[in-house]
Amino acid sequence: MEEKQKNKDKNKQNNQKQYIILTVLLILLIAIGGIIFFTSNQNKTDEDELDENEMAYTELLTQIDEGNVEKIEMTVGSTTAKIKIKDEEEEKNVLIPSTQAFIELIQQKKEEGTDINLIQKPTNVFVSISSAVFSLLPTILLVVLIIMFFKMQGLGDKGKVYDGETTQSKTTFDDVAGLEEEKHEMIEIVDFLKNPERFNKMGAKIPRGVLLCGQPGTGKTLIAKAIAGEANVPFISMSGSEFIEMFAGLGASRVRKLFEKAKKISPCIIFIDEIDAIGSRRNSSGGAESENNQTLNQLLVEMDGFDTDETIIVLAATNRPEMLDKALLRPGRFDRRITIGLPDMRGREAILKIHAKGKKFAEDVNLKSIAEDTAGFTGADLANILNESAIIATINGHLSITNKDIEDAVKKVTVGLEKQSRVISEKDKRLTAYHEAGHAIVSSTLETQKGVKEVSIIPRGVAGGYTMYKSDEDKCYISKTEMEEKLIALMGGRAAEKIVLNDISTGASNDIEVATSIAKDMITKYGMSETLGPISINTEQDPYELQLLGEKFGDAIGAEVKILLDKAYETAQKLICENRDKLDRVASVLLEKEVITGEEFQEIIK
Ligand code: ADP
Ligand code: ZN
Repeated sequence: MEEKQKNKDKNKQNNQKQYIILTVLLILLIAIGGIIFFTSNQNKTDEDELDENEMAYTELLTQIDEGNVEKIEMTVGSTTAKIKIKDEEEEKNVLIPSTQAFIELIQQKKEEGTDINLIQKPTNVFVSISSAVFSLLPTILLVVLIIMFFKMQGLGDKGKVYDGETTQSKTTFDDVAGLEEEKHEMIEIVDFLKNPERFNKMGAKIPRGVLLCGQPGTGKTLIAKAIAGEANVPFISMSGSEFIEMFAGLGASRVRKLFEKAKKISPCIIFIDEIDAIGSRRNSSGGAESENNQTLNQLLVEMDGFDTDETIIVLAATNRPEMLDKALLRPGRFDRRITIGLPDMRGREAILKIHAKGKKFAEDVNLKSIAEDTAGFTGADLANILNESAIIATINGHLSITNKDIEDAVKKVTVGLEKQSRVISEKDKRLTAYHEAGHAIVSSTLETQKGVKEVSIIPRGVAGGYTMYKSDEDKCYISKTEMEEKLIALMGGRAAEKIVLNDISTGASNDIEVATSIAKDMITKYGMSETLGPISINTEQDPYELQLLGEKFGDAIGAEVKILLDKAYETAQKLICENRDKLDRVASVLLEKEVITGEEFQEIIK
């Protein structure tokens, strides 16, 4: 993903550079045009405006008629002649409108007996080339300008409209850990790409588009590449955002080019990342929206326009399938959906194993226990952790990656780098200590909450401190009680501040944000409200849905969410009061040691 970002930045830089070059070229073109305009104008100048060493053509003709011309010197291909008039010292330049006619005229005069010495000099090669180049310069510049303009539209590097990046993927299913069920569906697609005839003979409808849904870093791109690699077909990839960047009207033509190319090299895979960038619901308003609509329409046209003998499968990735235009999901388009969730413990261990290849670990390192501690991490996070641990080990001068290096990497990836340089006031430290101790104490009194793993008041990232919980078995379901208790644990920090310091701080803002979103989900997603009953409403994506249900309903949701949060806050305060002595002890040890482990915590509250 970082790689993609880098490419994008590079493109942007390239574009800026090209804009500058374009401007310079334009100015040059105008300048040259100006010079040529004025010099060609000079040809038409009157006699009066001629320089001393110049002579008008009409004057020359008179002089010839009068027999005053002694010598005429002309260079082949040039329109000026050097004239020597009898009894005059200096030679004069004359512009000849038609050299051919002029030479014929002189020859005729000679035959008639006039004594004129006509010298025709061969062309000076250098002069003639440079003059040719000079006269061609505007044309050359113009051509360069036009080429550059088209290049820019195509994001630069290929000299034509950008039609996606084509690679021959070397990724296989062995590179994809976990996701066993998903792989099963993939194998079907690979089979089809390898043997389209077999499916066609059987009259089987071939999948056209497959939607890969899942949050960033879960391996959607990886899977798409693995399909291409397994089927040994080219992999053309483009990001949805690339369709809509740059000049208006280009998105649609890019889609067209992309599919044109795919048809040429079929069988192949087209991978469209972030399809929601173009495929979100169509909007009737103008401007950028309608530009988007055009792009989306083109995509629909292309998806419908496949012939049966074209073996192209379009894989598209998104984290927000509900945002997509319904037309995209109709049969024959993206009618298959594979949802890729976060890896479970076994999956995490498998991913870690894959990314551990080629790294040297100390004997105490146990990938299984890292997998246990990293619930909620994506595949990309896990890959990142192992990479970070190798960097940390190198910096620390270790011969191999130790468990501590990995733990540090986990922390670094989760909460950002330790901000050791930041000086914290005693007052802030005390507040943080009570806040974190509040979380730890409250959650430890709640049946469903996980045990405390570590409490710290060393600031990391934006957080002033943190409480880490042990991860337990991955569960498929979370009960209502567990969610309610989670809310109480989240309120523990704020509750401790309120009771001990009789003031509250912004330190709890993230807790409250998380709590609110959980409470909202409980009511609108999981149907856990007593009064509203089992109902699911998509409040964020579709305000219309809420309108349909009526204003009162919206108010009721708000009220229910508030009740849940208030109740949790109250309970948290009650628990803090009941365990005040423990809270004080934990906070004071925290102030002294800054970090305490789960075991130490248990010791203190015993
Ligand atoms: P997405 O496209 O869903 O944002 P990516 O496919 O780009 O995610 O994943 C980023 C990186 O994370 C991959 O290149 C790979 O190193 C790692 N990764 C993610 N999921 C897995 C997995 N299941 N097995 C192995 N590596 C994974
Ligand atoms: Zn907190």
